[in-house]
Amino acid sequence: PLVLGIETSCDETGVGIVRGRTLLANAIASSMDEHARYGGVVPEVAARAHLEAMTPTIERALTDAGVALEELDAIAVTSGPGLAGALMVGVSAAKALAVALDKPLYAVNHLVGHVGADLLHGDGLRGAVGAVGELELPTIALLVSGGHTSLLLVRDLVSDVEMLGETIDDAAGEAFDKVARLLGLPYPGGPEIDRVAATGDPHAIRFPRGLTLPKDLERHRYDFSFSGLKTSVARWVEKRVAAGESVPVADVAASFREAVADVLLTKAVAACRDLGVPRLLLGGGVVANARVRELATERAATAGIELRVPPLSLCTDNGAMIASLGAQLVAGGHEPSGLSFGADSTLPVQQVQVL
Ligand code: ATP
Ligand code: MG
Ligand code: FE
Repeated sequence: PLVLGIETSCDETGVGIVRGRTLLANAIASSMDEHARYGGVVPEVAARAHLEAMTPTIERALTDAGVALEELDAIAVTSGPGLAGALMVGVSAAKALAVALDKPLYAVNHLVGHVGADLLHGDGLRGAVGAVGELELPTIALLVSGGHTSLLLVRDLVSDVEMLGETIDDAAGEAFDKVARLLGLPYPGGPEIDRVAATGDPHAIRFPRGLTLPKDLERHRYDFSFSGLKTSVARWVEKRVAAGESVPVADVAASFREAVADVLLTKAVAACRDLGVPRLLLGGGVVANARVRELATERAATAGIELRVPPLSLCTDNGAMIASLGAQLVAGGHEPSGLSFGADSTLPVQQVQVL
């Protein structure tokens, strides 16, 4: 089926077009620059930017794919989780399209969309790491971005997705952004820390690995926590400054990046082992991190786990992954969603489609 997918859960206005599992277009407009002076995504600013970007981004996707609106078989849209106001813009646009064109509409889960990204193949998709070919199930999925840090068990993409654990405070990308800010680096902080860390010593400072002590593991085996790490970096830097010493920014960045990568992969590999699932799929903007990619490759090889990392353009938020999940629902003969669903900022991961 030929499906157009709309994604507006955070700061990317994404419109993707797929034919089954073939990627035809992945148009993205980001309001990231507008959030830079606030050091993080501002919900009202994001919603307004989606409104302005929606029509041009839809048009660009159609042009890139060489497809006319009338040819579409279905529309898919992110219903949640995400920022309520931002989601509402995408949901409204998708409903308007579906009504005007008289096409079926599928409201889907953003997190499961990240997994659906891995199904896609097509021209211009480069930078994938690890296994190629069919996505085998069950798989563990580690989704890490500015808004989420989640470990999922996916047995079936449309009917059986389970949340094993998630962050209990900051998302990993958010921690990158906050630590960058306290080191005087610009927003978004992830790429900056990555760049600076390249010349630093990752073992210079031993920063804490959140929720990895035996007492924490009982209740939070697959959960993450990054706010303690952020505070620990802040204290370390403050002490240096108070003592009149210079701050070794590269070493701090490298040691912080190491702590994040270590805890992410430790927990993901533990889930694979515990559940006897020798497959790990990564998604989300933090997957761009050089050390996260490197450590994932190393640890997966050591543990005999098949690692899959989609190309970066499909790891960050995008409409193609939503179209991909929509195409799976159409192909599986699932009912469309109707028009009464809304934006659900806390949509649980088990709910792949909202009816
Ligand atoms: P959502 O949480 O809804 O997926 P988002 O906009 O926060 O939305 P993405 O756009 O996928 O998510 O990712 C952006 C985040 O990824 C930012 O926090 C950014 O700092 C982080 N990031 C990007 N590149 C890197 C990198 N090289 N290393 C670490 N973090 C990175
Ligand atoms: Mg983003
Ligand atoms: Fe996302």
